[in-house]
Amino acid sequence: MQLISRIQALEKTARQLEPHLLVRQEWHSAIEQYANEFIEDNPKLNAFDSFDANHFAQLEMDIPEEGRPIEEILAFYKETTDRVGINPASGKHFGYVPGGGVMPSALGDYLAAITNRYAGIFFANPGSVKIENQLLRWMCKMIAYPTNSLGNLCSGGSIANLIAVTTARDARGINSEKIPKAVAYMTNQVHHCVQKAMMIAGMREVIIRYIDVDEALKMDVIHLRKQIAADKKQGLYPFLVVSSAGTTNTGVIDPLDAIADIAEENDLWYHIDAAYGGFFLMLEEYKHLFKGVERSDSFTIDPHKGLFLSYGLGAILVKDTEKLYASFSYTGDYMQDAFELAEEPSPADLSPELTKHFRGLRMWLSLQLLGTKAFRAALEEKILLCQYFHKEVQKIGFEVGPQPDLSITVYRYVPTIGDANLFNQSILEAVRKDGRVFLSSTTIDGVFWIRLAVLSFRAHLEEVQLCLEILSEVVNKQLKVVYKN
Ligand SMILES: *Cc1c(COP(=O)(O)O)cnc(C)c1O
Repeated sequence: MQLISRIQALEKTARQLEPHLLVRQEWHSAIEQYANEFIEDNPKLNAFDSFDANHFAQLEMDIPEEGRPIEEILAFYKETTDRVGINPASGKHFGYVPGGGVMPSALGDYLAAITNRYAGIFFANPGSVKIENQLLRWMCKMIAYPTNSLGNLCSGGSIANLIAVTTARDARGINSEKIPKAVAYMTNQVHHCVQKAMMIAGMREVIIRYIDVDEALKMDVIHLRKQIAADKKQGLYPFLVVSSAGTTNTGVIDPLDAIADIAEENDLWYHIDAAYGGFFLMLEEYKHLFKGVERSDSFTIDPHKGLFLSYGLGAILVKDTEKLYASFSYTGDYMQDAFELAEEPSPADLSPELTKHFRGLRMWLSLQLLGTKAFRAALEEKILLCQYFHKEVQKIGFEVGPQPDLSITVYRYVPTIGDANLFNQSILEAVRKDGRVFLSSTTIDGVFWIRLAVLSFRAHLEEVQLCLEILSEVVNKQLKVVYKN
């Protein structure tokens, strides 16, 4: 009797976890109102708000014993999170690689969370596995992989690259004995998460050969071929080449087809990192830039970049699904009913995860609600906006990097006196202080460049023109400082 009454007493409190419809409606409408205001106000919001780091280090809301009113929570969120630092949802965010976050992405996450279907295993929820595999096959088709190729939807490009190098390691038999003699090839323009992935996948001691780049910062295939031959002669074991289809630095595409020839001749695993550039393959007119893409063994592509989804969705595509399975399948006794012969391979067998976010739903819902046409228009618009900027920024006195392949470009202002690197750093600082647009920078061979990455779906002509205006204002101001000293 005591047990029953204790259970009943607990139940009363535990049931607070399933709030009444009226409470749910109140929460919903508060969040909905917040979201609508955010989207409406967003064009007026800064792309960057500077902040006092010390102040933020101390700022937190206690985890309460009893729940708080939603207004209080949202007010805290707005003040501390939503109005400080970079605003990645802004169309005036031109730093790093922005995407924006189309609204159906949030709805997909909401639906996935409410229904909480188990997307890791076909047996548990065939529909969600089917949706994720359909999306993977849709992307595989985009790069002309065979129809039985697959991959995995993961949290981002870093994890996609980790899955790729792990698969490459196993597919080429790189065991502990071979690791110190194994060689991977890439350029210094590769995204740093590739080296990090090698480290995590137990390949810290693998020899990384940085292949020269040409003037446009693309891999020099003559050097690649020579280096592999030299390494083989030395008794080393070349096994992996990583190229970029859209580098993070300058958005250029390596000579994919020529690299494929060399990978084939030498039996290297060929990985292409197209985390940034991959979705430009949706544009028929630009497909030629990616010639040879179908000859790769694996391909990284980030829907939270080129498909403008909210952060948290990357993808790895692998031509030979068996190879992915060989690296990522394992099972436990408690899983005995889950591994029945399934028509569809399960994400749990093709990735490090078991229980996972049904992250495909946000992509599927966005594509279903918005259709591919608008995405294609936005992608082509970004390429043309970047070309426009590349042309216009020269008119206000900037020197530019190579003609952009896609939607990233670099530029810098070289004053007649003083240190150009310091001058461009001061421009960048002034732009950040202004806050209306956000830009990031990079260093290439010791030269400091400011970058422009046009990829937010909210970036249109108006936003790019504002960026040019601000740059022009800031340069004039900074020049006055230089010539006064
Ligand atoms: C952004 C990017 C990555 C890293 O992807 P995350 O989604 O940030 O983990 C890897 N490679 C390239 C080329 C990128 O642009």
